[in-house]
Amino acid sequence: MRAIPPPQLTFNDVLNTCVGSISCQTLTQNINAINPQLNNSVQDFDTKAATADLFQIQTFTGNDDAVVTGQVTKAELKGLYTFHMVPARKPARQYYDQIMMQAPLRICPFCGFGQVDTLDHYLPKAKFPLLSIHPNNLVPSCTPCNKGKNAGIATSKNEQCLHPYFDLGHFINEQWLFADVIQTTPATIRYFVRAPGHWNASDQARVNSHFDDFKLANRFSIQAGDEISNLRVELDIDFQISQQAGVEQALLKKHTVASLQHTNSWKTAMYQALAASNWYCSGGFK
Ligand SMILES: [Zn+2]
Repeated sequence: MRAIPPPQLTFNDVLNTCVGSISCQTLTQNINAINPQLNNSVQDFDTKAATADLFQIQTFTGNDDAVVTGQVTKAELKGLYTFHMVPARKPARQYYDQIMMQAPLRICPFCGFGQVDTLDHYLPKAKFPLLSIHPNNLVPSCTPCNKGKNAGIATSKNEQCLHPYFDLGHFINEQWLFADVIQTTPATIRYFVRAPGHWNASDQARVNSHFDDFKLANRFSIQAGDEISNLRVELDIDFQISQQAGVEQALLKKHTVASLQHTNSWKTAMYQALAASNWYCSGGFK
C-alpha cells in the first residue's frame, strides 16, 4: 500500500468537460439540472473520506434504466465516465490521464508493485453512480487490483480497504505487513498482517480488509518467489566469503533499503523474514 497525492482537480471542471462532449441536448439539460445533487454527493464523499466513513454512503440499488435523481438514469451517469472521460479523443480524457499520473512511476498504490493501467472507482459506479467521475473517487490502479477486488461493498468502517488519497500517516509509516519463511526448496514466503497493538480496532481491521480484498497474500508470495530465485547466486557468493554472517548482512542491507522506501511492501517484509531465518541464511537459500 502506498499513499499518493489526491488529484488537484475541481469536480465541476471534470463534469462540465464531460457534459460538453454530449451530443444529445436533452441529456445535457437533464445533467445540468442535477448539478446541485451531484455537488452534494461529491461534498459528502470528501467529508466522509476524511474520517474513513465512506461506508455510510448509501448504495443505489436500481438497474441501469432506473432514474437516480432528477431525470437522469444510472446508465447515463455511468456513461459520463465510460463515454466521456475514458475515450482517448474526448476532451475530459485529459483528467483521466492526470489522475493516472498521480501514481509515481505508475506503480499501483493498492498493491505496491503492479503497473497502473486503469482507474479504479473506490466506490464502484454501478452502486454509486453520482460519484462516477468524482476525481477523489478515481484511483490509479493495476488491472489485477481493479478487477480482482472483492466485489462486496463495505458495510462497516472495518471492511473498508485503504484509500491511497486519504489513509496516510500510521497506515504508511508503521509496519503492519509481515512475512514468514517456509522451509521448502526453494524457500517460500507466507505473508500476514499484524497491525500495531496501539491502533484502534477499526484501523487494525482495515489493514486486514485491504490485505484480503486485493488478495495480497497470494500475489505477494508470487512476487517473492521470483525474487528468491534471483537471490540464490548472489547469496552463494556472500556465503563463500563470510558464511552465514555474510548472508545475513546482505539480507539486512536489502531490508534496510526496502524499508526506507516503503514500510509495508512485499519486499520489506520478505527481506526482514529472510534475514531472521536461521535456516535460510545457513544454507536454505541454495
Ligand atoms: Zn495493484
